[in-house]
Amino acid sequence: MSTKAIEVASPSSDWSIERSTELYCVASWGAPYFSINAAGNVAVHPREESGLTIDLPAVVAELRRRGVMLPVLVRFQDVLRMQVRRLNEAFANAIAESGYDNVYRGVYPIKVNQLHEVVDEVLDAGREYGLGLECGSKAELVAALANLQDDETLLVCNGVKDHTMLSMMISAQQLGRNVLPVVERYFEHVALKKLAWSKGFMPRLGVRIRLATSGSGRWASSSGHNSKFGLSLPELMRLVDELEASNGLDRLKLLHCHLGSQIADISVLKQATKEVTQIYAELVKRGVGLKYLDVGGGLGVNYDEGQVNAEAGINYSMQEYANAVVFTVKEVCDSQGVAMPILVTESGRAITAHHSVLVVPVLAAQARDQLPVDHQLPEDAHESLKGLEAVLQLVPELVKRRELLEAFHDAKERQEEIGSLFMLGYLSLAERALADQLFWSVCRQLLERFKATSAGAMPLEVGDIEALLTDQYLCDFSVFQSMLDHWAIGQTFPIMPIERLAERPSRRGVLVDLTCDSDGKVSQYISSLPDNSFLPVHAINDLQPYYMGFFLMGAYEDIMGDAHNLFGRVTEAHIYADADEPQNFWIEKIIPGAAVQDMLAQVQYFPNDLQRRMSEIVRAKIQAGTVRPSVGMEILDQYMACFQQSTYCASGGSIDQDVV
Ligand SMILES: *Cc1c(COP(=O)(O)O)cnc(C)c1O
Repeated sequence: MSTKAIEVASPSSDWSIERSTELYCVASWGAPYFSINAAGNVAVHPREESGLTIDLPAVVAELRRRGVMLPVLVRFQDVLRMQVRRLNEAFANAIAESGYDNVYRGVYPIKVNQLHEVVDEVLDAGREYGLGLECGSKAELVAALANLQDDETLLVCNGVKDHTMLSMMISAQQLGRNVLPVVERYFEHVALKKLAWSKGFMPRLGVRIRLATSGSGRWASSSGHNSKFGLSLPELMRLVDELEASNGLDRLKLLHCHLGSQIADISVLKQATKEVTQIYAELVKRGVGLKYLDVGGGLGVNYDEGQVNAEAGINYSMQEYANAVVFTVKEVCDSQGVAMPILVTESGRAITAHHSVLVVPVLAAQARDQLPVDHQLPEDAHESLKGLEAVLQLVPELVKRRELLEAFHDAKERQEEIGSLFMLGYLSLAERALADQLFWSVCRQLLERFKATSAGAMPLEVGDIEALLTDQYLCDFSVFQSMLDHWAIGQTFPIMPIERLAERPSRRGVLVDLTCDSDGKVSQYISSLPDNSFLPVHAINDLQPYYMGFFLMGAYEDIMGDAHNLFGRVTEAHIYADADEPQNFWIEKIIPGAAVQDMLAQVQYFPNDLQRRMSEIVRAKIQAGTVRPSVGMEILDQYMACFQQSTYCASGGSIDQDVV
């Protein structure tokens, strides 16, 4: 594999890093962790306060030097720590400012990113703040139980719970751990009661309630009266009555609600907090021994500052979120005259989203390019091609929009005519191909001339021309593995090239992936342009690899991946910032991505069996004399070598570069 120094692109005189910053909206989604440096590269600021910066292309160059195959998911572990700190400091500030009379104890919901290294880093950074965990399934419970710091660390157990899980939670309490099963359905309460009798141990518990307030945005259905989760108020009353009858009011320790992820509007959060705190106050007055009030997750991330896609943005900061929770709870408790609870939130997205960046090589660009200026139409070319050529000759003389529009209509008519002639067999394939090129040349030139015309609304046809001239950039990744939410619920993520940002991105690109699925593409982009169906990109060349950075990938995305076309998990690199290192970072760990054999095993194909089948095929050919034995064995070796390889294209840059 060739490694080469990342050259700094010379800035174009008509472009600047400031313009790229604006174009790709870096300030809205990237602050305080990402910016563009003077060299036109993406810079990472993993520790807000220290002014330490890491050049992202330098990280990629170092990984490639060590033989790491791309795509690679780069995790900035310091960013995780910073987010944990920022969240806890925000609550500490709000508590100090409001005179709130209790503490904040966040829990990290591991479903957002269960990777052991991520959970460890979050817990380690959260130790001084008493950060706990939240789990929502049996596997998560098993992982979380063994990772609690001490007897005080809170583990909130949400999700549907079977007997085994409830029993494990009771056992954990018997061990002295602060594990709280949160009753989400009434039957869990019934099951818990039975288990408690049989074990002779009365467990502490929490309860999740269904609020009238419902969330907003894509995840709104997690809340409201019709939500899949939580007890209704009549069920809550029944549960409390039963606890009271068995002298167990003191066992109900936590009241929980969750509005759904990515709350867009702070007023919805305030409303919900008010509602749940009223319920809390009533229950406390009734003698329930509530200790914790848990307002769930939902703290949002600004993928896109309400630009085009309002759902991708949020209208508040982390501090405003903390203030909203703390001040609202205090206000209600004060007016009801009840003690203030320990505040719990289950913020996952906000803690993890920023820390990882997926770096993906562009393998090839399919451009609808112009003919060279000195091209010659063959003497005997068909009349219709000559007609198209005539339009092309005419374009440079046109100035007015009306004239340009007429030329476009002419060219389009010719192009359609050529299509019909080809169908009827009057034109050769070569002529048809030439006609396409002529047509694209006309379009590209027309577009330039349209753009040069004076202000005012452009004719609709200009949009058609632009769409026609959009390039497809083939990227070495799978939307289904790495960006499932984009495909499933249309979530937009910030994407931009990680270098050459001092250069004008002159092309319109649409990013497509390796899967054989027409949905395997990015269909909406974050940019300051009015049209978000494409991404402004640079022309690629054979000399320099072109890398796309997919940002804010740390929450949910790298854990949900689906093995479409058997593309597996991508390689990961864990990076720590360090001012004593020459390039301000060191690589702590590289986790290889899934190999071909790993993905095959998931669908029940195993190397031994495949090898046996393949060698039977080869052997038969050798016996039949159609393949020489040495060639046959080489083919077999080649086949077997694939099992260890990455599921992605073996390339660090453009496809031509690293052909083995
Ligand atoms: C998913 C989930 C969370 C995490 O929400 P974020 O918006 O990612 O912070 C918290 N609590 C519950 C109950 C969840 O289901």
